[in-house]
Amino acid sequence: MPYCRNYFRMRIIASNCCRSAAWGGASYQHRIRPLVSRQRYEHQVAWYNISQKVPISDWANWGIGLDMTEQLVAQKELEHMATHDELTGLPNRALLRDRLSYALTAAQRNNRRGALLLLDLDHFKMVNDSHGHPVGDQLLREVSLRLGGCVKSTDTLARLGGDEFVVLLERIERVEEAALVAERLLNALVNKPFFLFGNEIRVRTSIGITVFPDDDVRLDELMKNVDLALYAAKQDGRNRYHFYSRVMHNKLRWQHRVAEKLRSALEVDSFSLQYQPQVRLQDRAVVGVEALLRWNAFDEVPLSPAEFIPIAENMGLMPSLGKWVVKSACRQAALWQTRFPNLPVAINLSSVQLYQPNLVECLLEVMQEQGANPENIELEITESAVMRNMDSAIATMRRLREKGFNISLDDFGTGYSSLSYLKRFPVGKLKIDQSFVQGLETDPVDAAIVRAVINLGHSLDMKVLAEGVETQGQLQRLGDEGCDYIQGFYYSRPLEAESLEAYMQRNGLH
Ligand code: C2E
Ligand code: MG
Ligand code: MG
Repeated sequence: MPYCRNYFRMRIIASNCCRSAAWGGASYQHRIRPLVSRQRYEHQVAWYNISQKVPISDWANWGIGLDMTEQLVAQKELEHMATHDELTGLPNRALLRDRLSYALTAAQRNNRRGALLLLDLDHFKMVNDSHGHPVGDQLLREVSLRLGGCVKSTDTLARLGGDEFVVLLERIERVEEAALVAERLLNALVNKPFFLFGNEIRVRTSIGITVFPDDDVRLDELMKNVDLALYAAKQDGRNRYHFYSRVMHNKLRWQHRVAEKLRSALEVDSFSLQYQPQVRLQDRAVVGVEALLRWNAFDEVPLSPAEFIPIAENMGLMPSLGKWVVKSACRQAALWQTRFPNLPVAINLSSVQLYQPNLVECLLEVMQEQGANPENIELEITESAVMRNMDSAIATMRRLREKGFNISLDDFGTGYSSLSYLKRFPVGKLKIDQSFVQGLETDPVDAAIVRAVINLGHSLDMKVLAEGVETQGQLQRLGDEGCDYIQGFYYSRPLEAESLEAYMQRNGLH
């Protein structure tokens, strides 16, 4: 009991107005009968500060007590507030740490296991942004109720803040039990939408799991592990759980390092662009260039954008980094506009940029600022980015087309888009993913896919470009199949702007 030992729990045996009470041990029942009605006070409990205590026998005392109930209730409320989350009433971070610390000690002492599950709601920010904070708050309350229904009374469900919840399973017999709980939590949220203030809201969640004492016995390390496991669950595509593991630890630690570097790299402007020529097969003319992002992250081998762009996306850095790319590429396109009038610059848009609500306005603003013309810009959007939300992507692509931008579908063949959708894409060019081109000479399946994509593109009135062409043999096959353009090391690697100009001059294209 948290109170000081001068306070004794007892039944009220005197009326409130005199604010004092007789206090007794086993014999108090005899004393109250003449004083107060039994029915009124029998089940009430109050707190009294005992000022006098007189023994009346070996086994019982009596005394005078001052009613402290209100003060102590207020104190208890304060304690509750310090250890519980105001919005949901769940235990907060402080209480969770307390219980986790206890569970860790108990697990080690008794040679048993426990698990920590960290979950956060996928894209909760969008709920707040689109429906407002009262709906967001109510959603968190209802989510906490549903989650609470998935755990036993001996487990702890806590809210860390924002949309982050933790489940502490103090004791599990097998690791699979943690996975079962995670599945229950996922299903509780996913299977039924929430109806709040007339809005139907569907919620998904990702869950990280760490098991103790196996993964670690230090509280802070466990909290870090579970955070990494959650990050891995999100990277795997969200709405799933992921167990912490040592291999994952090393990989994600590295990603964290990259992420830290990325943040500061944006401040000191340590990125650059290279440009790779795109060549028309028919007459070998350079018909455009693709701007590719470069970053010397660790002063060693440059890190591929295919590796660091997903990390930038996850960290929310892509809007700034993407804007930097658009600005730099447009500045270059404006410089080249008079020198190489028919040399559109292709810019890769990440999926985060594609679904940015003000993308079109942002692009137009940069164009104007840099003096570039949308007709001189091609936007490369990957097939997989379009697949995330086809209707919204198609609407954005249409608006971009209306403003004069050219659009190509990058890495085509890897995103499984359906033909019925493809015909609705306002796209002028399909770029066959290099994985198919590389198998063109050796793998009949790849050869068949390349042929099918070329025919498909042409039948939808689109041009087709093959990426990653490295050999004369591939070039030959692509020519035979009627491919329009190629891009690859066979003609040129990506080049600095100045080297690209020299390349154009060498090839008589200025
Ligand atoms: P991508 O848009 O499909 O770009 C083509 C990639 O293939 C580039 O890799 C290019 O260097 C590489 N490549 C070109 N020809 C050949 C070849 O013959 N053989 C081989 N093996 N590779 C070839 P890079 O520059 O490492 O970029 C990788 C991916 O990163 C890009 O694929 C694109 O998805 C993304 N990326 C690059 N720059 C940006 C950017 O500025 N913004 C965004 N959002 N993504 C970018
Ligand atoms: Mg590209
Ligand atoms: Mg590509």
